[in-house]
Amino acid sequence: MVCFSPLDGRAVTYTESILELTGNGLYCARGDFYVDPWRPVDRAVITHAHSDHACPGSHGYLAARRGETLLRVRVGGDASIEALDYGETVSLGGVRVSFHPAGHILGSAQVRIESGGEVWVVSGDYKREPDPTCAAFEPVACHTFVTESTFGLPIYRWPPEAEVFAEIRNWWAANQQAGKASVLFAYSLGKAQRVLSGLADAPGPIYTHGAVENYCRLYREAGIALATTTHAGAAPATTDWSRALILAPPSENGTPWMRRFGHLSTGFVSGWMRIRGARRRRSLDRGFVLSDHADWPGLLAAISGSGASRVWVTHGYRAPVVEWLKQQGLDAQAIETRFEGEQDETGAEPAAEAEP
Ligand SMILES: [Zn+2]
Ligand SMILES: [Zn+2]
Repeated sequence: MVCFSPLDGRAVTYTESILELTGNGLYCARGDFYVDPWRPVDRAVITHAHSDHACPGSHGYLAARRGETLLRVRVGGDASIEALDYGETVSLGGVRVSFHPAGHILGSAQVRIESGGEVWVVSGDYKREPDPTCAAFEPVACHTFVTESTFGLPIYRWPPEAEVFAEIRNWWAANQQAGKASVLFAYSLGKAQRVLSGLADAPGPIYTHGAVENYCRLYREAGIALATTTHAGAAPATTDWSRALILAPPSENGTPWMRRFGHLSTGFVSGWMRIRGARRRRSLDRGFVLSDHADWPGLLAAISGSGASRVWVTHGYRAPVVEWLKQQGLDAQAIETRFEGEQDETGAEPAAEAEP
C-alpha cells in the first residue's frame, strides 16, 4: 500500500508484514490466525505439542496430522483440531498454510505461510539430525525464516548419535556390574522416546516414570518402535533395581520418588550437557549430549538452506545468531517471544551457560 509521509508529504510504499508480533504471539492479520500463541485465541496454528508452543483454550486449532494425538493430550480431548498431512495446503482468508517436518518430536512441523507471492516459514523447534521417532527436517524455501536459537553459540555441536548411545549403554553396563540402578533423566515428551528408540534392542530391564510411560504409549500407537518398558510406579516393592535403567523427567532429580531405587547412578540426556559445569551444578554422575534442538552448525545450515533474506530469531541465544547473520548480509532481528528452549530440571532454560 502507498502512504504519505507526515513529514514531507512524499509517497512511501508500505508493505504490511505477513506476520507481526502481538501480545498473544505471532499473528497473521491477512489470514486472521496465530502461530503457537501463548494465550487462547480464535484460531491457533500449532508447530508441535510442547507446552510452550501449544496453549489450551483456543477456539480452533490447525496442526500436522502426525502430531494431532499429542496436541489433543496438551489442549484437551474436546478441543476443535483440524489436521493436515505434511505438504497439504489450506487457505485461511486467502493465505496459504501448510506443514512441513521439523525433525524435533513426533508430529512437529514448520509452518509455511504464503500470501501475495511472499513466503514465511515459522520453524518452531527443529533439528536436522536423523531421529527415528519423527519425520526428518525438510528445508522449505522462503523469504522470511522464523527460527529458534536455543543452542545459538558456536560451542554447541552435537556428537554423532551412535556415539552417545554407546556411552549410555556402557554407563548402564558398568552400573549393572557395580550393582547400581541407572536413573536416566530425559524430557518426558520427545527426548525420552528418542532414547528408548535408540535402545530398542537393549536386553533391559527398562522402567519409566509415569509421565514418560504415557507418552511412550502414544508413540507406540503411532507405530514408533521403542524398547520394552515397565512403569516403575506399578512395579512390586520387591523389584531388584540393580540391573535396571529407569527413565524419568529431570524434575524428579533428588526427589523422594528416587528413594525406591536404592544404590544408584544418575545421568541426564540433554544438549546442555555439552558444558561440563552444567552437569556438575545438577550433581549428576553423567551427562549425555543429545538434543532435539539444532546445534550451532545446524541452525546456520537450516537458515541458509531456507534461502531467506530476512530472519526473525525467537528464543535462546538470540544475540550471537543475529550478529552472525548480519555479518552474512541478512536482515536479522531478535523478537521477544515466550517460547522456551530445551528445558532443564527447573522447567526453564538455564541462564548463560558460557564455559569455554
Ligand atoms: Zn519443543
Ligand atoms: Zn520450544
